[in-house]
Amino acid sequence: MALETERFLASRVKAKLAKGVHDINRMARDIEKAGHKVVRLVQGEPDFDTPGHIKKAAEEALARGMTHYSPVEGLEEVRRVVAEKIKKDLGVNYIPEKEIMVTEGGTLGLFISFMALINPGDEILLPEITYGPYLNILSLAEGKPIFIPVERRGESFVIHWEEISRLATPRTKAVLLNDPHNPLGVVMSQKELELVGEMALKKNLMLISDEVYEKLVFDRLKHTSIASLSPELKERTILVNSFSKTYAMTGWRVGYIAAHADLTRVMSRVYQSSARCAAPFTQMAVKAAMEGPQDCVEEMRLKYDERRKVLYHGLKEMEGMIVPYPQGAFYIFADVRAFGMSSWDLTVHILQEGHVVVSPGSYYGPGGEGYIRFSYATPKEEILIGLEGVKGALKKIKRSG
Ligand code: PMP
Repeated sequence: MALETERFLASRVKAKLAKGVHDINRMARDIEKAGHKVVRLVQGEPDFDTPGHIKKAAEEALARGMTHYSPVEGLEEVRRVVAEKIKKDLGVNYIPEKEIMVTEGGTLGLFISFMALINPGDEILLPEITYGPYLNILSLAEGKPIFIPVERRGESFVIHWEEISRLATPRTKAVLLNDPHNPLGVVMSQKELELVGEMALKKNLMLISDEVYEKLVFDRLKHTSIASLSPELKERTILVNSFSKTYAMTGWRVGYIAAHADLTRVMSRVYQSSARCAAPFTQMAVKAAMEGPQDCVEEMRLKYDERRKVLYHGLKEMEGMIVPYPQGAFYIFADVRAFGMSSWDLTVHILQEGHVVVSPGSYYGPGGEGYIRFSYATPKEEILIGLEGVKGALKKIKRSG
């Protein structure tokens, strides 16, 4: 008799997930196998190689035999450098041995934070257009999302943070911020951060602040962390960050959490019971990344900026598409409602007819339907070919309005 696996599964893994990047990539591979070139405007990761001095630090650490467990929270010398980096970038002081934890990537940092805060049925407030995996992790923690409305106003997005006061219930534990934002590309203003901070204090909420795109801001904007606004807000912020985007290190799996000492202690228990620690040679690599020259970060940022403009102007020319202007991260979240198809169907159409991979807005929370996310973490030449593909595919659709 075949094993009835369903009988054994925990309810927390049974949640139905929206179709997203993995599904469309799978379809794209079939088209490639049939001999067609496919352009990817889908990836959430830098296409650049990890800078040489960072790789070298890992090689040296390996040669020195750093292949064993490190303390759960990370090597002391690396925690110290993370605290120095935060002080330099954000002007906030953290005690390295109590308030900093080196994690095995930003995703794990989020997982640990949610696991430490959320009881079944507890709520997290977050924008209704949001990075898809937040919802998956929250569902594993058996928590509940409460969505903050997002409005597209012309070429920008407005996140209605002021709704926090109305939406928060006694079961709401935290507000989740992602600044700069994936997929919206928005960067929060000082005023918005202050408003969120004010309401978090008023409603006694924690703040989980995902700042993995902190270095990818454009048009002379500057990233500000909510933790830097006041000691009261620092205390209630779990700052989650990663080296993945800044240094093109997605495969290395290193990030960090900065948080209140009491919370850090509890989160380290969750960490100990899951990934245990980040590999010490990868920790030495990020130490070199933080301590070394930062020109590589700026060089990559300038390349993204150029691509951002190419993609933005290219998409804007396409009739029917409304293209908000992104200020951070490396995505454009375009309104495609005029084409009268679901975002998943349109994604499939663009792949089949234009041989371009994009991601469906429906993957990014309940407010994402009717949008397509385009990534510009792709060389300019590819973006130009991709734009032609998208244009061709859209021309084949009869629009309703
Ligand atoms: N947060 C956001 C908003 C992201 O886009 C990503 C990666 N796509 C992550 C966190 C996680 O990054 P990593 O696990 O590679 O550090």
